[in-house]
Amino acid sequence: MPRYFVWTIGCQMNKAESRQIAGCLDSAGYQAATSFDSADLVVLNTCVVRQSAEHKVLGTLGLLRGLKSKRPSLQIVVTGCFVNSHTEELQRRFPHVDLLFRPGDYPELVAWGQRQGIPVEQSLLLRRNGSGVAPSPCALVPIIQGCDNFCSYCIVPYRRGREVSRPREEIVCEVRELARQGTKEVTLVGQNVDSYGHDLPGHPDLADLLSELHNIDDLARIRFLTNHPKDMSLKLIETMARLNKVCEHLELPVQSGDDDILKAMRRGYTVERYRELAQTVRNEVPQISLSTDMIVGFPGETEAQFGRSLSLVAGMRFDVVHVAAYSPRPGTTACREYQDDVTAEVKKGRLNKIEELQTVVASEINSRLQGKEVEVLVEGRKGGKWFGRNRSNKLVFFENAGDWLGQLVMIQIEKTSPWSLGGQVKIAN
Ligand code: SF4
Repeated sequence: MPRYFVWTIGCQMNKAESRQIAGCLDSAGYQAATSFDSADLVVLNTCVVRQSAEHKVLGTLGLLRGLKSKRPSLQIVVTGCFVNSHTEELQRRFPHVDLLFRPGDYPELVAWGQRQGIPVEQSLLLRRNGSGVAPSPCALVPIIQGCDNFCSYCIVPYRRGREVSRPREEIVCEVRELARQGTKEVTLVGQNVDSYGHDLPGHPDLADLLSELHNIDDLARIRFLTNHPKDMSLKLIETMARLNKVCEHLELPVQSGDDDILKAMRRGYTVERYRELAQTVRNEVPQISLSTDMIVGFPGETEAQFGRSLSLVAGMRFDVVHVAAYSPRPGTTACREYQDDVTAEVKKGRLNKIEELQTVVASEINSRLQGKEVEVLVEGRKGGKWFGRNRSNKLVFFENAGDWLGQLVMIQIEKTSPWSLGGQVKIAN
């Protein structure tokens, strides 16, 4: 049986698409391999959102060039944000790659597969659970591709193109099939899930989609990411509050605590508007856990402007802050119009300050769970312990001799840290 290996870096969208591609290859008679060396077909699902990610992709392509020279039958497929619209130029630079297809351009993959005698079917890309015999308790499901926002620093709209929503019936069909196979939790993903449906007949929105998925009997939990503060509606917030399968967890990137920087980033909201929105969410869904993204060292960011980001983190008390140093991406407005004038050392210092502060905040927030019972969906085992996430997306570990994979269990929390929780089983559902 031929074997495939899918290498993925980047966002949840990439992970979701890799799951679909893996599932499709399973159905085409391939078997999952554990490394490049043991694979007949390698799929690289790439990210170029930061320079460091692009370097990793280039390094991996170099490694595969060496493998292919020793083993010419190895087939190499590249997708993800590394693949721009100039595929001919990329093909010239990387002649050892057999197929380059833009993210989500499955007809291209299907046509190539058919030419190679690989029975890849587009319908399978949309339904099957990926890589493996046992269905995963949690699955990522793409609902919208691309982004219309063009934040000044971001390369994604240039690589993934304009927003295209998946038809509602197709998503419901995929989630129903996943639930039938044993998946208990789905996370609906897209670059901006708040835009979902504006391009579909009748303009269904994310709230409508959540209401429909909520009716799937075997499904226990629903999450979604990533939201955009400019586009998140009151209807969506009220729907989160109303539907008990929708988890109390929200990814709401703020990016900066300074209005001038937000303007230069073209984010379309002010700090005040962000605070109001977060407060509305906290009023409607009191148990909400709020995660955010921040960029430090955007061109021209002064110490005072960075100080406002730091104060925002201190005041907002996010559960999680993903912080990144600004990385100029050729082709974006920020790269064209602004000089990358904050030194790498200053960026690193600012990043560390945010992380240090957030460690203290997360430690305080999580310590309040000491002694409490939380519901955990068990995803697997690591280091001799079971692990899973509670409804607010906190990682929970516990030791127990039973077989808990895919089960919802109540865990009494005995240990907390800024990054995870530990406890003992109380009641199995
Ligand atoms: S919302 Fe902004 S940061 Fe997010 S993918 Fe779109 S352009 Fe990039």
